[in-house]
Amino acid sequence: MASVFTRIIQGELPARIVFQDERVIAFHDIHPVMPVHILIVPVKEIPTADDITPEDEGVLGHMLVVAQKVARELGIGDSGYRLIINCKHDGGQEVYHLHMHLLGGQRVGPIIAKRS
Ligand code: 5GP
Repeated sequence: MASVFTRIIQGELPARIVFQDERVIAFHDIHPVMPVHILIVPVKEIPTADDITPEDEGVLGHMLVVAQKVARELGIGDSGYRLIINCKHDGGQEVYHLHMHLLGGQRVGPIIAKRS
């Protein structure tokens, strides 16, 4: 069955799309946790980061270029942002279609506690 993100790519579900080409789509997360919360998704249905193969290197690099472009367009290029890919259960992944979260618009808290 097509993932929810594939259904967005195919136009079957609505989304606030900020970028789209033949390889990648980017749209606002339906439940944003930051002032800017964008999902950057490859058109190819790669379920998780653990399913990436060497042939996916191009699209993965493109996802980063799209993230930078969208961040700048949304005004957070200078203030900064965080890019996150959750992988499987322990990584907190809910949608099993690879995606990168672009988070910004305010300072993102620490994920890995710094040693004092
Ligand atoms: P994950 O936990 O898998 O890394 O993140 C999945 C993200 O997809 C969540 O932040 C969730 O809010 C978002 N999401 C789930 N379903 C939809 C949807 O139908 N539309 C949009 N725009 N975002 C969705």
